[in-house]
Amino acid sequence: MKSYEALLSDNKHWAAKKLAEDPGFFEKLVHVQAPEFLWIGCSDSRVPPNQITQTEPGEIFIHRNVANLVVNTDVNLMSVLDYAVNHIKIKHVVVCGHYGCGGVKAAMANTDLNQVLNMWLRNIKDIYRIHRKEIEAITDETKRLNRMVELNVKEQVFNLAKTAIIQKSWNSDHRPDLHGWVYDLHDGIIDPIIEMKAGTDIDPLYEYEDL
Ligand SMILES: [Zn+2]
Repeated sequence: MKSYEALLSDNKHWAAKKLAEDPGFFEKLVHVQAPEFLWIGCSDSRVPPNQITQTEPGEIFIHRNVANLVVNTDVNLMSVLDYAVNHIKIKHVVVCGHYGCGGVKAAMANTDLNQVLNMWLRNIKDIYRIHRKEIEAITDETKRLNRMVELNVKEQVFNLAKTAIIQKSWNSDHRPDLHGWVYDLHDGIIDPIIEMKAGTDIDPLYEYEDL
């Protein structure tokens, strides 16, 4: 059996097991999608959102990209955010990074990774520049990377709060709360780093009027 064929056969086993446990499992999910959470995570294969949070299909709306970035010109992420906030009416947005993130590590080095990756990772270099003093005071290389991972998650939560999508929803519906978490590959534990409740004051520079 080819490696991809194993995926298809495992899928059949999974579907059969789900049906055996609950004959209405799939039928219930066909008609409605009402997850409470939007998850913005790293594409890293070792950080699968549903597995590490013990959630089932239908429970988390998910967007993943390299190093879990919230970039305001990213039409893909912004569409997901708009749909999750305004149509699904999710209550919480979680940005989940992970210690040892290869994307953050690459952004801290000077290797030319060619145009597209350079362009994407440049967003993280900017975070390094803002926090240069704190980062460069850490002598241990792993700890320095992991602090950058935390700062990256924080900045992405701030980036969410800077969007008109979030600000408008905070004004009208007082949701969603924003959460910044970091997953540890060594023990499988998620560490909450930052929480911004709906309506939290942000830098007035980023506030939109008359939303
Ligand atoms: Zn990563």
